[in-house]
Amino acid sequence: MKTRFGNSKVFNIHTDDIPYLSVGMFDRLGVPNLYSTRFTSYDDAKGEGVSGIRCAVMKTDRLEEASPVCRANRDRLAHQLGSSLEMELVTDQKHTNHVYVATKEEDLGVATVGTFALHRQYVDGIVTDIPGALLTAFGGDCPPVYIIDPVRGVAGLVHAGWKGTLGKIPQVAIAQMTLRFGCDPADMYAAIGPGVCADCYEMGDEVYDTFAAEWGREDADRILRRYAPGSESEAYRRIIGTGTGKYHLDLREANRLTLLRAGVPEDRIAVSDVCTMCNTDVFYSYRGRCLENEQVAMLVNTVRSV
Ligand SMILES: [Zn+2]
Repeated sequence: MKTRFGNSKVFNIHTDDIPYLSVGMFDRLGVPNLYSTRFTSYDDAKGEGVSGIRCAVMKTDRLEEASPVCRANRDRLAHQLGSSLEMELVTDQKHTNHVYVATKEEDLGVATVGTFALHRQYVDGIVTDIPGALLTAFGGDCPPVYIIDPVRGVAGLVHAGWKGTLGKIPQVAIAQMTLRFGCDPADMYAAIGPGVCADCYEMGDEVYDTFAAEWGREDADRILRRYAPGSESEAYRRIIGTGTGKYHLDLREANRLTLLRAGVPEDRIAVSDVCTMCNTDVFYSYRGRCLENEQVAMLVNTVRSV
């Protein structure tokens, strides 16, 4: 695929049906996973993707109109992983750090975006021990974080925007996996999926102050730094203009630190090298002003014995 993510060292690229990226480390473990793009198909002759896929139900959509289209695309993607939406677990994603623990077959395929009927609070992550469960999350800059414990057959998927990252949602997922299913973080593998890069992700001083208050100043200085005007990404300058010396947040490093401190071994954490805003020709991006839809991340709780 002739795109700027074609050289990714972290993701494999698939163009057989609906194109998607997958985490190479999880592929090697035999764990089906994906992150979608804007493309419904790939034109081999032209060497480019054909745009138009809608996977997520956006708040601006009329649910009854958008939902069947989005569900049909998600179902096609799910089938590419050997699954289907009948096995889907999906949250309403309200930028919380709440994680739902799915243990019952009745949880599968019944939850709908915006009306997570099985839970009395908004959630942005799921963990489950149900074999074959299809975990899904949406993002248009906020990276998904995939987690798997192949020893106990437990999987987790969280939506980690800046608020979820601040609330250490990957740690919440790992704590639930440990508490509810007896997992050991030392057995886990984790991957931070595509999302906005630090060079694209400008934040106000209040975000620095919030991280400094909750994570400590040393951590805040590690994951947030001021960008001299003109040192932003090419995409940032093209889409937004020259910056004004504000902080930029490194979501990847923040979530990597959280995973590491929760006990996941460093060499088992794959970190995205693909930015949604730097590649708005390939991805929908909130900051990149490509708001028509979002990508879907999927992870199937299927583990080959390792
Ligand atoms: Zn970027």
